[in-house]
Amino acid sequence: MGEYDAIIVGAGVLGLSTAFHISYVCPKAKILVIEQNPRVGQGNSAKSASMFRTFFSTEVGQTLARSSIDFYEHVHEKIVDLKMKWTGYLWLFCEEDFKDFRSTLNEMERKGLEYMIYDKDELEKKLDIKTRISDEEEAKFMGLSDVDLGVFAPKAGAMDVDALVKFYESRFTQRKGKIRFNLKVKNIIIEPCEPLGTTRFSGEPFFWQEARVAGVNTTQGVIKAKKTIIAAGAWAPSLLDQVGVTAHLKPRKRQIFSVTTESRRLRELYWTRGFNQEGCVPLTFLPRISRTSTRISFSPHDGNAFWLFFSDKFPRAFKHEENPQPENYNYTYGLYPILTKYFPQFNECKASLSWAGECVYTPDLQPIALEQNDLIFVGGTSGNGIMKADSLGRIVAALFAGDEHATLYGDKKFRVSDLSIEKRNVEPERVKI
Ligand SMILES: Cc1cc2nc3c(=O)[nH]c(=O)nc-3n(C[C@H](O)[C@H](O)[C@H](O)COP(=O)(O)OP(=O)(O)OC[C@H]3O[C@@H](n4cnc5c(N)ncnc54)[C@H](O)[C@@H]3O)c2cc1C
Repeated sequence: MGEYDAIIVGAGVLGLSTAFHISYVCPKAKILVIEQNPRVGQGNSAKSASMFRTFFSTEVGQTLARSSIDFYEHVHEKIVDLKMKWTGYLWLFCEEDFKDFRSTLNEMERKGLEYMIYDKDELEKKLDIKTRISDEEEAKFMGLSDVDLGVFAPKAGAMDVDALVKFYESRFTQRKGKIRFNLKVKNIIIEPCEPLGTTRFSGEPFFWQEARVAGVNTTQGVIKAKKTIIAAGAWAPSLLDQVGVTAHLKPRKRQIFSVTTESRRLRELYWTRGFNQEGCVPLTFLPRISRTSTRISFSPHDGNAFWLFFSDKFPRAFKHEENPQPENYNYTYGLYPILTKYFPQFNECKASLSWAGECVYTPDLQPIALEQNDLIFVGGTSGNGIMKADSLGRIVAALFAGDEHATLYGDKKFRVSDLSIEKRNVEPERVKI
């Protein structure tokens, strides 16, 4: 089999984008992607809501997302149908919360981000939403606020992640890249840069010896590489921890509940006109729940369903589970009663399908791409991995090639070390979901 130039652990959207871009930047490189599942994109990429936006408060968030989305649009128009739909995102606010957000929004506007503000009356007319609820007993009990206005971001929408990962897979394999499925990496292999002799001393590398990552130990034996790239999503922390690489990653469970548009009223809500060319309701975030800062959202999907989502914080554990399960009680006692307060259209609706995955968060909610001792790590996408995957793949390809800057789609230069830990140069993201 011989040594590879690069092994990439993980055939999710990040691993495949990385593989694709390395095969372009270094056409002669021998690259192997290793995936424990039988197919590509079956980890958290498959569990995502597949939404995208450029609406970030930080320069880095905007750049990574905009460039990736522009690339996906190019692929969608010229190469493969990625089912991109520009439905937009709508954030609903009460007056008080909007005051806090105003300065961030002004800064974003100065950076050229497009948005529109809808007042309460327009929202009522368009969405048939109940905006005055805070005096109701149940709303008071749950800490729900009124809706005073909405901020609509048009450069946002939904796409088909499966089509995206398959696009990267096919382009990578056409360039002679290899993927091995049903193969699990058990641990990372460390070797001394200068071994003491032909027979390895027990305990080598000693703490005074310079060491490097030499490949991986899998369920079917050792595979060696010049560079080992970990793109293992929520599984990455356990691999990195084994060799003492710090990336400050925290996996957290996230859940989606799907409600089909069986009633006339729900279909009417789905096909709300006036926001986008699709003639449908945007991904809509309800006002922040004051006590917990959680926002509930719903997005239209496939013409016949809404996907309901909530991103809870304290006391939701930061932990990795092999097979996280959705918590139906959070639909019954959380999503349903809150959503129906604002949107009675959801009355009597049950979730026909639900699933759970994990998002991997960093303290500043910006992704990480770092290199250390021939190990490269990419991840910590903080719930935005699909919409930033193309840029991140290009950044890792630049790291692999030893370039200081990556050229993102649209020719924008990006300093690779900005996403590292040691020379990190990013602001914390303020538009959180
Ligand atoms: C409910 C939910 C909704 C989301 N919604 C959105 C959204 O709307 N938009 C957005 O941009 N992002 C969203 N995300 C986040 C997005 O899914 C992730 O950021 C993205 O999928 C990360 O891609 P990845 O390639 O790093 O991870 P993954 O897709 O999880 O890929 C990692 C791969 O590595 C493999 N692997 C791990 N360990 C090993 C090992 N030891 N050996 C071999 N293979 C291994 C796994 O099997 C997996 O296939 C959402 C996430 C969740 C959970």
